[in-house]
Amino acid sequence: MSIRRLEHVIHAMPTSDGAGVKLRRSLGQSQSTRLDPFLMLDEFSSDQPGDYIAGFPPHPHRGFETVTYMLDGHMLHEDNMGNRGDLKSGDVQWMTAGRGIIHSEMPQQERGLLRGFQLWINLPAKEKMKPASYRDISSFQIPVIERADGVWIKVIAGKVMDGEKHVEGPVSGRTTEPLYLDVRLPKGGHFSHALIADHNAFVYAYEGNVEIGAGDERRLLAAHNVGVLSHGEQIELYSEGGPARMLLLAGRPLKEPVVQRGPFVMNTREEIEQALYDYQHGQLV
Ligand code: MN
Repeated sequence: MSIRRLEHVIHAMPTSDGAGVKLRRSLGQSQSTRLDPFLMLDEFSSDQPGDYIAGFPPHPHRGFETVTYMLDGHMLHEDNMGNRGDLKSGDVQWMTAGRGIIHSEMPQQERGLLRGFQLWINLPAKEKMKPASYRDISSFQIPVIERADGVWIKVIAGKVMDGEKHVEGPVSGRTTEPLYLDVRLPKGGHFSHALIADHNAFVYAYEGNVEIGAGDERRLLAAHNVGVLSHGEQIELYSEGGPARMLLLAGRPLKEPVVQRGPFVMNTREEIEQALYDYQHGQLV
């Protein structure tokens, strides 16, 4: 059995997006920090309303999927298809922009902590122009495994073994076959998980430090960093130094050219020009 190693680290950089929401951007801070099929990962976490209150007013997307996972707080999604999604602590919003969507994501709180993640997952060329779709997934629809040893796993997408039984997340049937787990380890905790050997995978530590790998190859990943993993059939996560929380993501690489301009992600420059033209002429959606 090949155990995945922590191959390299991408430090999350402070940035802002939307109308001035402060973020930590790890994947997607530059073209060389994508991990096919994952284009971008933002963490937002602040109890200062000035950092988030302006939100993300209406803006377009084409060519990929956005997945928002709220840890704390309350956001409202509205889009051109008439969807209205109230996103609260523990909820997930899985939006497939496809050929085009125009949406807003606005905080519904004037104080308190707003914390969560937005992940961008690419679509294959043949699906980039499919109709947009949108799904709100309430926290109660997302299975959580709470083991006797204190290990806690929320299965947003993909499958996890809990003893003898498979626990499957609410999202399936995607070409990229995403695995999306929120893993929380107590001090001295250990989580081992089988992965498809040639899928790309990374860990994003968001609280505490996690050790990744086995034996001499165990390496520490500190909070607010992406750890990109080598290929292999298994991942081993440890938290010897103290409790730790992390996202574990994996997916099937698309191995297609990526041309991005802001909120549009296509395969060629011409397709990007077309997206801009369509948006400017009210033909995106
Ligand atoms: Mn958006």
